[in-house]
Amino acid sequence: MENTTASAPSSRIGGFHKLGVAERIERVAAFAGLDEAERQHLADTGNLSAELADRLIENVVGTLNIPLGIATNMKIDGRDRLIPMATEESSVVAAVCNAARQSYDGGGFVTSMSGACMIAQIQLTGVPDAENARLQILERRADIQALCDECDPILLKIGGGFRDLEVRVLPTRGGVMVITQLIVDTRDAMGANAVNTMAEKIGPRIAEWTGGKTHLHILSNLADRRLARARCVWPLAAIGGEAVRDGILSAYHFADADPYRAATHNKGIMNGISAVVLATGNDTRAVEAGAHAWAARRGHYGSLTHWEATASGDLAGSIELPMAVGLVGGATKLHPTAKLALKVLGVQTAEELARTIAAVGLAQNFSALKALATTGIQRGHMALHAQNIAMMAGALGDEVQQLARVLVDKRLVRLDVAEAELQRLRAAQG
Ligand code: NAD
Repeated sequence: MENTTASAPSSRIGGFHKLGVAERIERVAAFAGLDEAERQHLADTGNLSAELADRLIENVVGTLNIPLGIATNMKIDGRDRLIPMATEESSVVAAVCNAARQSYDGGGFVTSMSGACMIAQIQLTGVPDAENARLQILERRADIQALCDECDPILLKIGGGFRDLEVRVLPTRGGVMVITQLIVDTRDAMGANAVNTMAEKIGPRIAEWTGGKTHLHILSNLADRRLARARCVWPLAAIGGEAVRDGILSAYHFADADPYRAATHNKGIMNGISAVVLATGNDTRAVEAGAHAWAARRGHYGSLTHWEATASGDLAGSIELPMAVGLVGGATKLHPTAKLALKVLGVQTAEELARTIAAVGLAQNFSALKALATTGIQRGHMALHAQNIAMMAGALGDEVQQLARVLVDKRLVRLDVAEAELQRLRAAQG
């Protein structure tokens, strides 16, 4: 019997991280049987140099280009802004443009922020007298503040640093734990590394003061001391009347009552939010984790937005969610496209960025709910989706548009239909 495992390539590649990008590509090519064109494709890193990519993450063999679109029509706190959005999903950018267009004459979006504080947690176990330990830690507030602020003189200099201390007694499956929470203003940084450093510094002291043992020292992505808020009133006349408004309200009521619907409703909101977070080199997972945890804070997973009718019958939407984004740290200051995106946005502070992103999330939700409550989501999606299918079928240049139109007209946006129609199109054109 043939021994297939003996000839199978091995994923155990010692020292892969020590290789240069070109050598790694060779190793991967040998593993996966990549041809010369495929190797060259990997080696072409576009407008992000291989050298920088190799510094941002480990084991780099290439970069992945994602389209960067600009959402127009946004007016936020009285100021017009162009919004860079990085996403692979069709209709996301268009949704923001449309929602913003319908809100523009009514004044656009009004935003605010609850603060710029991140939370770092320190887990303490092995204290039978947990309540006693809790107070012992709270009594050390001044020491804790000094230790935290020593960690980050830059933050202190620019007006950030330690703000508050919370200590919670937490019953768990593994016994009672005492959780210390450091509340730190991280100004224009997302703050993960800044607060993690502080938590690691304080941890051993807490163990010493209480006689317990500390384990985890890490920020919480439920950044509820850093809530970005946006609100907007869409005039009834701009959105198409009462039936549209009531359809949107009903769609929102459904989402807020049902987690199955809320997951998709909030996913749509994050289509907009994550696209700006990514475009600006911020951490999409951190923002997403915070958003979903916040959506479940009442013990029931619900909508990140709220929709109401105003006294005059217009449609009022609002959003409030954790928004841990920065202008320094992570890839924000290193990635050349992220730097450009920030320049296009014209934001000067992390707060301005966070507030802008909240407005984008609200705009996205407006468009999704309006489409769902009226024509259905597919009509808007189909035009771009049809172009994707046309390209998958092999359409080139002008053929893409022509074929996409045929597919939409036939209401058959399918690959098999696209292949057959492409042949017909080419035959007809000789
Ligand atoms: P960072 O630690 O590199 O930068 C923050 C530091 O920049 C501050 O400590 C401060 O000293 C300095 N700084 C300079 N100018 C500043 C200004 N104007 N405002 C504030 N600080 C200024 O970066 P970070 O933002 O702490 O870390 C962010 C990255 O950490 C994210 O991209 C994320 O991917 C990653 N991360 C996330 C998690 C998580 O979310 N769970 C965990 C670990 C790491």
